[in-house]
Amino acid sequence: MNKLIIFSAPSGSGKTTVVKHLLETMSDKLGFSVSATTRKARPGEENGREYHFLSLEDFKQRMENDEFLEHEEVYSGILYGTLWSEVRRIWAEGKIVVFDVDVKGGLNLKKQFGEQALAVFLRPPSVEILLERLTKRSTEVEHELKERIDKATEELKYEQQYDTVVVNDKLEETFDKCERLVTDFYIA
Ligand code: ADP
Ligand code: 5GP
Repeated sequence: MNKLIIFSAPSGSGKTTVVKHLLETMSDKLGFSVSATTRKARPGEENGREYHFLSLEDFKQRMENDEFLEHEEVYSGILYGTLWSEVRRIWAEGKIVVFDVDVKGGLNLKKQFGEQALAVFLRPPSVEILLERLTKRSTEVEHELKERIDKATEELKYEQQYDTVVVNDKLEETFDKCERLVTDFYIA
């Protein structure tokens, strides 16, 4: 059976860190679904690796062509979307597709795929720690940071709708738990 694992979490919870680790250590089992976005690349990000960085026109054209499984305006004026082409590419390699999407997008994917998908909600030990991690990361300017904090606080309410919740306190323990989840789902 073709399978998918969805990692969702409020911004700053450590989703990118965890997904990157899993892809490095379990690359034989997992393939990352590279989303499309209209936001600008951050320093160190590469087109086609973290995201397919698209112009708004290109993104809208792809929406019209039905190229997305789901898409969303995650932050005001900034679109993100999961491409069918990514899912097909990874399944063709015989691997589980891994998604790093926002909480709404994650629930949308879970609804579409049911038992084929494992939906994992990653959350920080507390809101205070989330704010600290977001601020330390320093990738956003002030108003963007505020928008992310507001959204993160809202998203924390959705964890019970996920198949499983992992609290990201000590990173090594989080890595171990997530590796175990992947292995169990892979052999199930
Ligand atoms: P997300 O992708 O969910 O927005 P990131 O993976 O970018 O989150 O993590 C946010 C920040 O918190 C990063 O600077 C990351 O290095 C740090 N971080 C992630 N997990 C932990 C952890 N368990 N303990 C301390 N810092 C962490
Ligand atoms: P960032 O800009 O920090 O990389 O990501 C912002 C948010 O958008 C994160 O919560 C990330 O998981 C989410 N995201 C990334 N790609 C997609 C996607 O294809 N669909 C949805 N719904 N959210 C996405």
